[in-house]
Amino acid sequence: MPFDNTYSRLPERFYERITPVRVKNPGLIRVNRELAASMEFPLPETDSAMAELFSGNELPEGCDPVALVYAGHQFGHFVPRLGDGRAVLLGEYVNSTGKRFDIQLKGSGRTRFSRNGDGLSPLGPVIREYIISEAMYRLGIPTTRALAMVSTGEKVFREEELPGAVLTRVAASHIRVGTFEYFASRSDHEALKILTDYAIERHYPELTETAEPYAALLDKVCAAQAALVARWMSVGFIHGVMNTDNTTVSGETIDYGPCAFMDSYDPSTVFSSIDTYGRYAFGRQPAIAQWNMASFAGCLLPLLHENEDTAREAAQSIIDGFKDIFKQHYFADMCRKIGFSSHEDISIELLNRLLEIMQQGKSDFTLTFRKLSSAVENTPETFLSGFSGKDEVGKWLIDWRKELNRQGIAPDKAAQIMNGCNPAVIARNHRVEQAISAAVEHGDYSVTDRLLEAIRLPYAERTDFDEYRNPPEPSEKVYRTFCGT
Ligand code: AMP
Ligand code: MG
Repeated sequence: MPFDNTYSRLPERFYERITPVRVKNPGLIRVNRELAASMEFPLPETDSAMAELFSGNELPEGCDPVALVYAGHQFGHFVPRLGDGRAVLLGEYVNSTGKRFDIQLKGSGRTRFSRNGDGLSPLGPVIREYIISEAMYRLGIPTTRALAMVSTGEKVFREEELPGAVLTRVAASHIRVGTFEYFASRSDHEALKILTDYAIERHYPELTETAEPYAALLDKVCAAQAALVARWMSVGFIHGVMNTDNTTVSGETIDYGPCAFMDSYDPSTVFSSIDTYGRYAFGRQPAIAQWNMASFAGCLLPLLHENEDTAREAAQSIIDGFKDIFKQHYFADMCRKIGFSSHEDISIELLNRLLEIMQQGKSDFTLTFRKLSSAVENTPETFLSGFSGKDEVGKWLIDWRKELNRQGIAPDKAAQIMNGCNPAVIARNHRVEQAISAAVEHGDYSVTDRLLEAIRLPYAERTDFDEYRNPPEPSEKVYRTFCGT
């Protein structure tokens, strides 16, 4: 297999060389054949051979497994050493077009970085990551992906005894803000420079030619994170653990823990059981992304300029620019949701008015936007059915149509814009929980399969997945999600 392991050729203090712990009785749960085909990844022929490979029992030729070291701010508190405590990077798979994919096993046993953890993953979180990362990909949002899930045939002990599993994750890379923080906090400037040059080479090679590649890197990563979080906001996604160790320089969404899509619109929504103070609430995600970028900037200071004040000024001006870049992305994405191809002030005002009405009325975020296209001309009944007080939203509809008209956007054009970015189906939290319960309690993966099929074409108008459009019934509502770590 064409593995080329540039990361494990970095100095030894970047990782621990390690063989994944063997599992007792690996069984293939699901393999992502579409992903494998798009990567040109040659899958073994039999299920049992795939189970051996994706459990880490059988190592592919050419791989060089390592557990990566990193640090990170967890809920605002700096932890000087985290690292892959339950994951092993097998290596980098390179396909015929030269595209490079990190192949990582998550839940593959203890490493030097496990601290008090067991290095294992229960089945539930593996299924959650598989489903939600796939949903994000299908929505068109940059994300790591899941290539396979296997059961280990072993028990994992949390509050109860649970079946164990391993997820195979595919990522552009696993370089995190926390990786920079690890070396910066130790004042290991040599490693910091090696890491930064490596990140540039791998993700932004065009910057090597620029006069100030390190400032340019900071700029690029800020832009990527701003664009990413704007996309999250546009589909109601809550990451749940936006720690700096869960923030990539590639701009991919990573580490699906207690993440979830929001049902009724409220910026203060939090699902994560460990987010007691709502640090990572839906509406705080942009500010947190900026905070994470400030942490990143802090790490790069020694590389930005030999004079600390000059370095600080350069970093500060880039971080100050984050909000504007975010807003550009956010309002562009959000104004498309109400049919505008650009984001003039008046469109933004209309958007904010609608969001306000939605928040007051606890309207379903996904359903409201999806139904809006049906109200673009004169039949607002379906759309209005999502609101209790109709007066305000009725007025809004009139103003909205007037503005579309003023901007010369014909109703069918507006509907086309909206239906192209307002998903009909998202991986709703109660559906994800139902899929997990069926699998964990009864070994039944049919619920997972049907959900995966439902989220495969999120923007399509399909009648056979109607039940996936609806928000949960009161009895189905899920209020808390868990990392399962
Ligand atoms: P996360 O919250 O999933 O981003 O993980 C934060 C840190 O905890 C990372 O360094 C993980 O490797 C580590 N970790 C999480 N779960 C476990 C576990 N079961 N065993 C060992 N380390 C873990
Ligand atoms: Mg993490």
